[in-house]
Amino acid sequence: MSQEPAIRVENLEHVYRLGSEDVHAINNVTLDIWPQQMTAIVGRSGSGKTTLLNLIAGLDTPTHGHVWVLGRRLDEMDETAKLALRRETLGFIFQSFGLLPLLTAAENVSVPLRMRHLDRQAREARVAEALDWVGLTRRARHRPYELSGGEQQRVAIARALAARPQIVLADEPTGQLDSQTGRRILDLLRRLVTERAITVVIVSHDPQVMREADIVHELRDGHLLNTRVKAAP
Ligand code: ADP
Ligand code: MG
Repeated sequence: MSQEPAIRVENLEHVYRLGSEDVHAINNVTLDIWPQQMTAIVGRSGSGKTTLLNLIAGLDTPTHGHVWVLGRRLDEMDETAKLALRRETLGFIFQSFGLLPLLTAAENVSVPLRMRHLDRQAREARVAEALDWVGLTRRARHRPYELSGGEQQRVAIARALAARPQIVLADEPTGQLDSQTGRRILDLLRRLVTERAITVVIVSHDPQVMREADIVHELRDGHLLNTRVKAAP
């Protein structure tokens, strides 16, 4: 591929120090994540997936090694620059949806937009467009407890989308959903790639995710075990 990777991880190591015990969560992982593809990072529970995602997002600092996001090396950036990079280019989707319980769907979607210099009208237009894109226009005034799990995750996707990210990082986005609902969420994540040209990275142990992704990196005990590239149809 001639393009630059969207994300590059080089010789990454992460050790958690738990009292006198060291947990080697990520061990010498090197990988590239290519733009406008769906990449899955899979492995059983405890294999280091969330740790790797947090290191990519700059939410934690690796013990060794480097991460580049859109060509910028995170350890050469200060916290303010990393925060700006996260806000302006990354979207996050979590297993537990991460919605604020007292806010409506529309208000949840507008949260990341409030920190931007967008006037109210522009914000509302983006919120409406994002909710429409995930098919939830009619649920705009519902609060999370008035929505199903799948609908809550669609709100979370709308929230990520409204901020116009280049990269979406999803941690077990189908983990709390039945397989049919999970399938719909994966379809939306696929459409982020095909319709919005977003780079999607999904961390998961869901077999559906492994089948859907263009590239699958498998972690075991913090090591990159193998990388599979799906053949072009
Ligand atoms: P996964 O997301 O694949 O389930 P994690 O990245 O959460 O895996 O965890 C990888 C390893 O690091 C596990 O052994 C876990 O217990 C350990 N770990 C994760 N977070 C912490 C932490 N904050 N402190 C200590 N150990 C941790
Ligand atoms: Mg995890």
